[in-house]
Amino acid sequence: MVDVVVRPGVAERLSRMIQLPTVSAELSERGLGPFHAFRDLLDELYPAIAETLEFVQVGELGLLYRWRGRVASEPIVLMAHYDVVPAVEGHGWTHPPFEGRVDAGVVHGRGALDDKGPLIVIVEAVENLLTAGFVPERDVYLSFGGDEETDGTAAQAIVAWLAENGVEPTLVIDEGGAVVDSPLPFVKVSAAMVGLGEKGIATVRLTTSSAGGHASAPPKTTATTRLAKALTRLEPNPFPKKTPVAIREMLRSFLPHTSGVSRVLLRVLVAAPWLTARVFARMGGEPAALVQTTVAATMLDAGTAANVLAPTAHATLNLRIATGQTVDSTLAQLRRAIRDRDVAIELVSGSDPSPESPADGAAFEALSAAVAAAFPESVTAPYLMMQATDSRFIHRTVASVFRFAPLRMSAAQRGSIHGLDEQVHIESLHRGEEFHRALITGMRPPGD
Ligand SMILES: [Zn+2]
Repeated sequence: MVDVVVRPGVAERLSRMIQLPTVSAELSERGLGPFHAFRDLLDELYPAIAETLEFVQVGELGLLYRWRGRVASEPIVLMAHYDVVPAVEGHGWTHPPFEGRVDAGVVHGRGALDDKGPLIVIVEAVENLLTAGFVPERDVYLSFGGDEETDGTAAQAIVAWLAENGVEPTLVIDEGGAVVDSPLPFVKVSAAMVGLGEKGIATVRLTTSSAGGHASAPPKTTATTRLAKALTRLEPNPFPKKTPVAIREMLRSFLPHTSGVSRVLLRVLVAAPWLTARVFARMGGEPAALVQTTVAATMLDAGTAANVLAPTAHATLNLRIATGQTVDSTLAQLRRAIRDRDVAIELVSGSDPSPESPADGAAFEALSAAVAAAFPESVTAPYLMMQATDSRFIHRTVASVFRFAPLRMSAAQRGSIHGLDEQVHIESLHRGEEFHRALITGMRPPGD
């Protein structure tokens, strides 16, 4: 690896970022101020980047930086987002969420893990390399969106800008998996979980109606009972079970690191994907969500008075669509499961699952090598993401898009994402910087 002097003070710099409340869901109340301040803060904290990289403001919230390498072809793109989800001081936070408290080797606050922590380790690595006079073999783009947590228009605009300017990346890294200690209940190994793809998403509204009238003499079926019946038909989960390629690859990658009963179990699961699908579906929760489309009724609404029959009833469903399926096929499956033509099914919004990036090419190898440099105790394991990220937009045109934040996260820390007491260890930030430095310096010239 190239010799660099790692600049101290990463925790304080992350703290400054956290102090800017870039809450995209509260954009109308807070205004663009914090977002512009964030862009200015990057300039202030990263003088070498500000001086050397070409900057393109893409729309109001897209920040794109180009670091010219020896050649422009086959560039890599490092993505992150600088907006955060809301957090309210006093609502259970130990430290105020936008204070950016640094204490006992930990940086606290909203965005520490999602996604200002993963963002800062990118700019830290680039700044350190620039200071050392390093020039990458190929172009490196830094792509930072400011509305990932709402609708991702910034990332979409950046992807469009790259396409219009003929930029064809060979490797994209965005938020996603992390370095975790026990990726499955029976696999006790440190693993860098790299998302090869992400599930699709759909919001669907169910509507039923009936004559309404006085509640003292109700008909056999009312709008509310019809809706309730429809919802119970979605339980147990009616969607097909199938093991995605990424999950089979994940299990395979754990094999050399297990022994005894775990190893036997893994061998069986790798050999029989149909069995994996059934076992995971049985486990419920996250394992189940890996092998099938999930559905959750998130909002219900009917009726206006205690003694009046509701003329209409609505339910909002949130579906996460398994790879290999589409929004259309999912709607058809939903219709079949509900099997009642008097339940109107309306698609509010939806996007298909992403493709799956290959886990056996040069791009994945480059990523694994960077993991080995920064986290030598960890195995690199592919998996599939259940949440949507900005990278889904670029995955339509780029084959190798990996969803991985190079930070070590405990189960409690992962639970703090979008929750309370979000925090990151400073040591983890150092490792993350090392990961990106290894990735950038390890890049080969195109065609090599
Ligand atoms: Zn995020």
